[in-house]
Amino acid sequence: MAEELPPGTIRFSSRLTSISTEPAADGSSPELAVVRLDDGSVIRSKVLIGCDGVNSVVARWLGLSEPASSGRSCVRGLAVYPGGHSVKKELRQFLSHGLRAGMVPISDTDIYWFVVNNTIPAGKPPVKLTKKEAGGDPEMILREVTDNLGRHLPEEFLDVVRHSDRDNLTWAPLLYRAPWAILTGRAARGPVTVAGDAFHPMTPDMAQGGFIFPLLADTMWFNCGDLTAPAPPTPRDAEEEAGKKSHAHYQ
Ligand SMILES: Cc1cc2nc3c(=O)[nH]c(=O)nc-3n(C[C@H](O)[C@H](O)[C@H](O)COP(=O)(O)OP(=O)(O)OC[C@H]3O[C@@H](n4cnc5c(N)ncnc54)[C@H](O)[C@@H]3O)c2cc1C
Repeated sequence: MAEELPPGTIRFSSRLTSISTEPAADGSSPELAVVRLDDGSVIRSKVLIGCDGVNSVVARWLGLSEPASSGRSCVRGLAVYPGGHSVKKELRQFLSHGLRAGMVPISDTDIYWFVVNNTIPAGKPPVKLTKKEAGGDPEMILREVTDNLGRHLPEEFLDVVRHSDRDNLTWAPLLYRAPWAILTGRAARGPVTVAGDAFHPMTPDMAQGGFIFPLLADTMWFNCGDLTAPAPPTPRDAEEEAGKKSHAHYQ
């Protein structure tokens, strides 16, 4: 898909900070989406599809409800064995009441592991974990897995956990948006809409979240047609061209 786009269309490390809409000066499009990035760039486009994940800025702008706590969280890590590990190259899962753990070697030296668990009480309002609780303290996360959540798991798994690269540990609450909030929420406003976790955050239960994305992207590509042509000029363009706003960028 990237090869089909004009050079420079895809920009990396571009954090969206705010969104607005404005009329297109030549009337060729009812409204343009105006996106501001944290480096000061301004992008005008005929369509804005927010795929910015569970904490989506675009979903918030549309007025969709904040994601709710699923009552569960997931700890993830990457174990590193500089001299190589002897773990068989297969996915192994360990199930117990309220817990699902797994590990899979991704190279001769690295093993990915996870522990999905019920540590956030279900039925209560969304729990906002502090930075420390949610992943700011790697030693605390490791202790929580080896001494508490996973203390009954096989020693082979715990050994993998202990070999974790401290910079690659996360412990995050699993969030979702209730189906009725998706059905009744405003998923589009003018040229702005959302897709993926920004619209319907997925938990890691049926491996469906990542899977649906290629299908969704393909459908959108088919339905949106040629949106890569330059957006029509607006009255503000002249102002920004004159240098009142820095780094203006048009698309
Ligand atoms: C623990 C866990 C395990 C999972 N395991 C699986 C699995 O095995 N199989 C599966 O199919 N699905 C799995 N899922 C679900 C899957 O990961 C998601 O459904 C999928 O990643 C959603 O893709 P997305 O592109 O919508 O959002 P994301 O993958 O969250 O991507 C959002 C992107 O937007 C960027 N972004 C965020 N804010 C801004 C901003 N303001 N400006 C610019 N960019 C921004 C982020 O940096 C990120 O790159 C799992 C989910 C979790 C939480």
